[in-house]
Amino acid sequence: MKKVELVFIPAPMVGHIVSIVELAKLLLDRDDRLSITVLVIKQPADPIANTVVQNVVSADARIRHLNLPEMEPPPEEMILKVPEIYLSAYIKSHRSQAKHAIVNNVLSSDSGESPPLAGIVFDFFCSSMVDVANDLGVPSYLFYTSGAGFLGVNHYLVIRESLGGREYTLSDTDSVVSTFASPVPARVMPTFAFNDDGYRSFVEHGKKFRETKGMIINTFAEMEPYAVKALESDPDLPPVYTVGPMLAPQKEHAGKEEIIDWLSEQPPSSVVFLCFGSQGGFEAPQIHQVATALERSGHRFLWSVRRPWSLTSSERASDFTSFDQILPAGFLERTKIRGKVCGWAPQVEVLAHSATAAFVSHCGWNSTLESIWHGVPMVTWPIYAEQQTNAFQLVKELGLAVELTVDYRRAQGSENVVMAEQIEKAIESVMEAENPVRKRAKEMGEKSREALKEGGSSFISLQRLIHDIIHNIKLC
Ligand code: UDP
Repeated sequence: MKKVELVFIPAPMVGHIVSIVELAKLLLDRDDRLSITVLVIKQPADPIANTVVQNVVSADARIRHLNLPEMEPPPEEMILKVPEIYLSAYIKSHRSQAKHAIVNNVLSSDSGESPPLAGIVFDFFCSSMVDVANDLGVPSYLFYTSGAGFLGVNHYLVIRESLGGREYTLSDTDSVVSTFASPVPARVMPTFAFNDDGYRSFVEHGKKFRETKGMIINTFAEMEPYAVKALESDPDLPPVYTVGPMLAPQKEHAGKEEIIDWLSEQPPSSVVFLCFGSQGGFEAPQIHQVATALERSGHRFLWSVRRPWSLTSSERASDFTSFDQILPAGFLERTKIRGKVCGWAPQVEVLAHSATAAFVSHCGWNSTLESIWHGVPMVTWPIYAEQQTNAFQLVKELGLAVELTVDYRRAQGSENVVMAEQIEKAIESVMEAENPVRKRAKEMGEKSREALKEGGSSFISLQRLIHDIIHNIKLC
């Protein structure tokens, strides 16, 4: 059988690279007609992300990757204002480099026998690459690293703008978004939607998604039935493929063994795990409130304590060299029998461990899927990106999480602190054996595994995607 080639263009971000490369692997596993080349864009502002991206794209010998030449980054002020626009603008500046790489390395080869280009699969932040696909006369496909619920918000913003809508203010009325059964309050809209430029940038992304031949989403139909149906039944949108959950593979990490050994000494389903994503960390006043809550609650805990992600500092969400400098005096000593504090956590392994009972999470989409896969109920504490909307969906629509806060957001320079009483109450609630979120999380975990098995919803959706990818080449 003749091969066909797909070009993948991921965003150079820790939380985005893993799932898109997992999709590449899954496609290669499922159909040996496919071959895949990944175009790698370097992050101008995050060397840690670049290392992660290089490691992930070179881990599978079947996937070829090409590093695009670095472009001049946009002005620093932009990253401080709305990081999402900075990244989108930087990626957009690589369009001609991407086209050049495809023309010279994918469409032509030394042997002169290149497989036909079946299309470009691009990350959310790379929607400007639709222009490259259009220029080359090949189909493009969106790979959406968040859920169907939030993809609906993206489409809603396009409609809202066409009706004269502008950036949000907190006093705006609730939004009726097709992928949410309940109206969505302005306070759970992502931070970029409150900024004029950020709002318009996301509208631009949403418009580009409509030019594609398909939207591939890292979710599964059983988890977000309402949202998936809404997208599928919208005649203005391209076909939808729910192929998830695509999860990070387990990997080695310094300190992992010590954490897993500690967990193995704890009783089954007894530990509360607190971890806030690749950019999640707090200032001292907030860390003190969490410490107080953990001390008062009496539950066992594993807590990933990290520096807050700083846009200007070189210590972006890096680990503390000593926890004594940041935790309340005597905290480590007083809680040493039942608690452990760490820096970067081996999150997937922790969630997979039988001692883990609950996950206090920033509700990043990968963390959400990982928690569900392992049947661990969540407590919502969103911080950045689209996490407020995810938290709202998890609590109000899906019943998979206990609400701690759905509208906390990181605000530069503000004292936005969640108090110990509130944290303690949410931990008590999620740890109650009778809390229905515990049962629902377990059931959804089983459904997530079923979805990927032969005959499962995501398995079938992936099959349909491959069929359509091949079919769409013939049409071009
Ligand atoms: N992660 C981890 N240890 C940490 C923090 C994060 O392993 O201490 C991993 C986590 O398992 C997930 C990813 O980093 O796979 C974070 O992705 P997510 O979409 O949840 O959040 P983001 O970092 O993009 O905000």
